[in-house]
Amino acid sequence: MAKIFCVANQKGGVGKTTTAVNLAAALANIKQRVLLIDLDPQGNATMGAGIDKAKLPSSVYQVLLGMGDIKDARQTSETGRFDVLPANRDLAGAEVEMVELENRETRLKTALAAVLDDYDFILIDCPPALSMLTLNGLCAAHGVIIPMQCEYYALEGLSDLVNTIKIVHAKLNPDLKVIGLLRVMFDPRMMLSQQVSSQLEQHFGDKVFKSIIPRNVRLAEAPSYGVPGVNFDAGAKGAQAYIAFGKELVERIQKI
Ligand code: ATP
Ligand code: MG
Repeated sequence: MAKIFCVANQKGGVGKTTTAVNLAAALANIKQRVLLIDLDPQGNATMGAGIDKAKLPSSVYQVLLGMGDIKDARQTSETGRFDVLPANRDLAGAEVEMVELENRETRLKTALAAVLDDYDFILIDCPPALSMLTLNGLCAAHGVIIPMQCEYYALEGLSDLVNTIKIVHAKLNPDLKVIGLLRVMFDPRMMLSQQVSSQLEQHFGDKVFKSIIPRNVRLAEAPSYGVPGVNFDAGAKGAQAYIAFGKELVERIQKI
């Protein structure tokens, strides 16, 4: 049975998609069966996995609205060796269209039931908002991975996210927990990065992953080739960090 994790943070551009795609590839490289779900109309995870979002026969949009089967919509990322439930801008409409539907928060969860045995991990790349799409991700998941940049405003947004997770846990999904906070785009030369990083450790203790993802240009270049960073340049510092993070996550979930 798959473990399902959302990569979520309502702040834009904090490294959610980079984390989701590279974690998927890192887990696939250690023989885990992975499905990456792109839950963002921007379709960045889809493109980053080497799948053309302009040419999707079916996508997560059809699946959420009950117009398509998840088994037909999923595709394989050749460059990442994991499966992808892709997205494109069609998904922007889902937000409004789902309002009319019954059980609108749990549509992704219901759809995933058909493929749970096909995977060890299902990773959900959430959009930068606490929206109905993100809510579907949180209702379907066992846990949340929160990527964050170590800067002052990062902490401010964090409390909103943690509160939302608490509410979903209380009202909609008792399985949901914060798996951990992942420090990304880390620049060790910046005093502020160091300070925020140690504040995080003080506040959240074990919930902060030991792996730290550095700012690394190879990770930023990889998506334009449709190759996950960990496979694009496996020796680069960023790739190495995501490989270590994949291993740390596997160890961590064995303990919980
Ligand atoms: P959005 O909120 O728009 O979905 P996001 O949280 O998914 O954004 P990403 O798209 O992963 O964030 O990252 C934002 C930008 O930062 C991208 O251009 C990405 O390539 C770059 N980036 C992410 N992580 C790193 C890193 N460790 N080093 C260098 N660049 C990075
Ligand atoms: Mg993204």
